[in-house]
Amino acid sequence: MLLPIASKKTVRAAATRLIRAHRRALLMVIVLHAVAAVFGLTGPWLVGRVIDAINAGAATELDINLAALILVAAVTIQSLINRLAQWRSMVLGETVFAALREQFMGTVGQLPLSIVEQAGTGDLLARTTNDIQSVAQTVRFGVPRILVAAATILLTIVAAAITAPRVSIGMLVTVPAIVLATRWYLRRSGRGYQRQLAGHARLSGVISETVEGARTIDALSLAPAQRRKIDRAVLERRESERYTLSLRSIWLPSTELSFLIPIIVVIGWGAWLVSVDSATVGEVTAVALFSTQLIGPVIELLGWMDEIQVGGTALSRIIGVEDVPPDRKPVPDARPSGSQLMARDVRFAYRHGAEVLHGINLDVAVGERLAVVGPSGSGKSTMGRLIAGINGPTVGSLTVGGVRIFDLPLDVLHKHVALVTQEHHVFVGTIADNLRLAKAGADDEELERALAVVDALGWVRYMPGGLEAHVGSGGVVLTPAQAQQIALARLVLLDPAVLVLDEATSLLDPGAARSLESSLERVLEGRTVIAIAHRLHTAHDADRVAVMQAGRLVEVGPHDELVARGGEYSALWTSWHDTGSGHA
Ligand code: ADP
Repeated sequence: MLLPIASKKTVRAAATRLIRAHRRALLMVIVLHAVAAVFGLTGPWLVGRVIDAINAGAATELDINLAALILVAAVTIQSLINRLAQWRSMVLGETVFAALREQFMGTVGQLPLSIVEQAGTGDLLARTTNDIQSVAQTVRFGVPRILVAAATILLTIVAAAITAPRVSIGMLVTVPAIVLATRWYLRRSGRGYQRQLAGHARLSGVISETVEGARTIDALSLAPAQRRKIDRAVLERRESERYTLSLRSIWLPSTELSFLIPIIVVIGWGAWLVSVDSATVGEVTAVALFSTQLIGPVIELLGWMDEIQVGGTALSRIIGVEDVPPDRKPVPDARPSGSQLMARDVRFAYRHGAEVLHGINLDVAVGERLAVVGPSGSGKSTMGRLIAGINGPTVGSLTVGGVRIFDLPLDVLHKHVALVTQEHHVFVGTIADNLRLAKAGADDEELERALAVVDALGWVRYMPGGLEAHVGSGGVVLTPAQAQQIALARLVLLDPAVLVLDEATSLLDPGAARSLESSLERVLEGRTVIAIAHRLHTAHDADRVAVMQAGRLVEVGPHDELVARGGEYSALWTSWHDTGSGHA
């Protein structure tokens, strides 16, 4: 599954909104560039005047020197205003870029977890980096330059027409050719760039997957298969790039020819006009110079038109993320009464037709500790995901305090159930920032209380800056145990009634210090705990044990009762003891 791409209409609307929101700054940039362009037009006009004056024998040395001085002054003023204009363009570009990135991060933060997991990180990563970069490039340079180039072209043609209307007709001979070639190109390049950026996303996806899973790939000798996958992605990327390149290699030369021809035509046509006394040599020279001055802005206009195609495509990928359908329709005023968990005939399929949970019925009392055990692939983690509200049951009902878990608005959901994973990621910022992720607006005292619960207050106070100490990359690097304590303190602040503890991925890293276990124990206190147990001693300590097999609950009851019953659990327990795992 790939993330959606916005339609042309949406992109156009978004671009218009962007332009409108910054219209003042944009207007300023355009005016500055246009004024600079007007000063640039002085040259050809002045040269034409001087030539005619010389031809008429009316020019003195002083006149020529004065003309040269005016020319130098005009060019100096032009470059100064140009500098100012470019500075304003850059500021505008950065402003738009910042707003766009913030908007994008906001959208990404709201994406349903289940969809992010399905789409994979590569596509999202490419959109956050490559695509935003590309839009920024377009905004920073493209939009101002394209407008300025268009204005310069127009002003140059007007100036030529005023200087010598008849001669300047020659400038326009190839306009139809440029228009036709460009239309031909634009019709094809949009889709080409779409493919190219998607190919880039796929390639960066495969590469990030390979790097992240390097150990697994190594352990299972998957390197050749992975290499083939990368080769395919590279090939696809190359083919898509080659396509757009081939389009450009037809379009650009044909347009280049189109703006060289007018100069020749102006000189030829002008010469004839001079011979019939309908124009002066000065006029023809001025228009020919105007024609050469057109080349720069025309190249710029066409080049940026191409860039804008890429920018537009990138923009469609960025705002396309907003089109991700929500994975749930929360009932806004759904409020659980209590935290009793109830599952009735819960079935679940990750993919249509491939059910992995086949009708689970279960009640978990408030404050109870339930251990879920069973062979790998029996559906324990899936059950955990459903209880934590990451996925919703395909069939049946799963409720907390009488309300369907999947119907809860996310903020309410997170106050009731939390999945404890190995996500002890330390975010760049202060320790306080890291904690307030769980409870925005919590005061320092509250943060310290939470740290005290998990035995972390001591070392946090000891750090220079205490709660305000900068951590994460670029700041103090926390030890894994400290990072885990911060994650646990976040849970204390979040204060959910139900905790789903997936041991396979949980904070309970066997290598972690003993003290962490007591920190965790204090976090679990007074909460309902669903422990997905991969080590049976967890099950032994629980109030009840639920045994899963092939997507079904086959036994539920206290440890001793199940062992005495002599069923599945009893067999598991015996074999675990016999293999000596119990002493590991
Ligand atoms: P356990 O936690 O008991 O090892 P899981 O809940 O992880 O079992 O898996 C139950 C079944 O669901 C397995 O057959 C597994 O292959 C399948 N499964 C797990 N996660 C996914 C997923 N993201 N997409 C498709 N199938 C999945």
